Amino acid sequence: MPLQVFARLRPLNGKEEEGGTTCLQVIGNAVEYSAGHQQYPSAFLFDGVLQGQQEDVFKASGIPLVEHCLAGYNACILAYGQTGSGKTHTMMGQLDSETERGLAPRVFEILFSRLREDKDQEASYSCLCSFLEIYNEQVIDLLNPSTPLLRVKEDPLDQGFYVAQLQEEEVHSVEEVMNLLRRGAQNRRTAETHQNRASSRSHSIFSFTLTKTRRVNDHQVSVTRSQMKLVDLAGSERGANEVGIIQKEANFINLSLTTFGRVVTEIVEAQHHGGMGHTHIPYRDSVLTKLLKSSLEGNAKAQIIANVSPAASCGSETLSTLQFAQRAKGV
Ligand code: ADP
Ligand code: MG
Repeated sequence: MPLQVFARLRPLNGKEEEGGTTCLQVIGNAVEYSAGHQQYPSAFLFDGVLQGQQEDVFKASGIPLVEHCLAGYNACILAYGQTGSGKTHTMMGQLDSETERGLAPRVFEILFSRLREDKDQEASYSCLCSFLEIYNEQVIDLLNPSTPLLRVKEDPLDQGFYVAQLQEEEVHSVEEVMNLLRRGAQNRRTAETHQNRASSRSHSIFSFTLTKTRRVNDHQVSVTRSQMKLVDLAGSERGANEVGIIQKEANFINLSLTTFGRVVTEIVEAQHHGGMGHTHIPYRDSVLTKLLKSSLEGNAKAQIIANVSPAASCGSETLSTLQFAQRAKGV
């Protein structure tokens, strides 16, 4: 399973610009980090460094994954980084702005336009969406937040994990997907306010399942199912990259993010040893990694977008994000 890793630098914000300095320099596909006291900067190499507009991010990361999903395979984009680094901006952005809308609206625009262009008379498609949040290892249905807490179950037949009773809505157009994105985002904000939850500690997963049914002959149809997942991870501060953090503490902070870090490390290890055959990848250890399993193995393609602020004041978190991302690239 090839894991692609991008770094995305957001511009300095107003507060950071005031007399602030930057700790990052971009050279092609590499990011150089330098702290004040360092004689030489540390360099990190990625599949791409994104500094531009939302459209540029979509072209580099989103389009190839849409194609993969249309070809019948699972695809997944994960936004990683400290709180305030631009994860939500990257994944969702301002949904109704032509220039500032993020990956999600653009991914589904192109998906539906490709489906409309399909001239295969024998093929028909159905699209189902779900939107959930993981907070403290509990699953909240963002399309139906009043349901009691949901359970993650494992399907004994195809080995897949799924959330029992999660609402799935059928969609026929980009506009319907956009309505679900807006509804989910609104429910996420409401729950935060009412239950006093820290949004930075929760992960959200928007899933889009595409089923293609194709008539083979008078007696047979073939069915292909593929999924596109868009994941806005919890803030990475004191998260997956922390060394020497004891397990109990890690559980408390964010078991899912810590486990995600371990899963990524094991996937990279397995690749180095040529195939995943005998490595144990700890998907079962957290809710997030259970739900991401089908997006990280087999023919699935996954991308991590590591979001960082260039401000020197964020230096240590930025360094930790770059180190995690570099490890995910297997360097
Ligand atoms: P996170 O989800 O990682 O906590 P946000 O996406 O909410 O961070 O970003 C924090 C702030 O910075 C928001 O106001 C957002 O609009 C702004 N921002 C983030 N990335 C960019 C960018 N690439 N260009 C312009 N503004 C950005
Ligand atoms: Mg966010």
